[in-house]
Amino acid sequence: MALELRPNCEYCDTDLPPASPDARICSYECTFCATCVETKLSNVCPNCGGGFQPRPIRPRGEWRPGLSLALRPASTERHHLSYDTDDIAAFAERLRGTPPEER
Ligand SMILES: [Zn+2]
Ligand SMILES: [Zn+2]
Repeated sequence: MALELRPNCEYCDTDLPPASPDARICSYECTFCATCVETKLSNVCPNCGGGFQPRPIRPRGEWRPGLSLALRPASTERHHLSYDTDDIAAFAERLRGTPPEER
């Protein structure tokens, strides 16, 4: 199983192509843009409460047999949050003071 490279930010729906340096993921692969993680989410994933890290970039080239972006393509299924913005803000407020390693 490879990491699921999702195509958009779940909050603002901006495109996050596989090589984007702005993609952030939580441990469940919930995917957001860096701007939303900083300004809307306060490094609190609204789906699971975890923190975020930059999403690793899958190599374009087949540097080892069978492994490349073309052979293990990015997902095309767009995800969208199922919580409203007030709920997300309250959730982030509740957890932002606790670092991810202690949540
Ligand atoms: Zn966003
Ligand atoms: Zn999450």
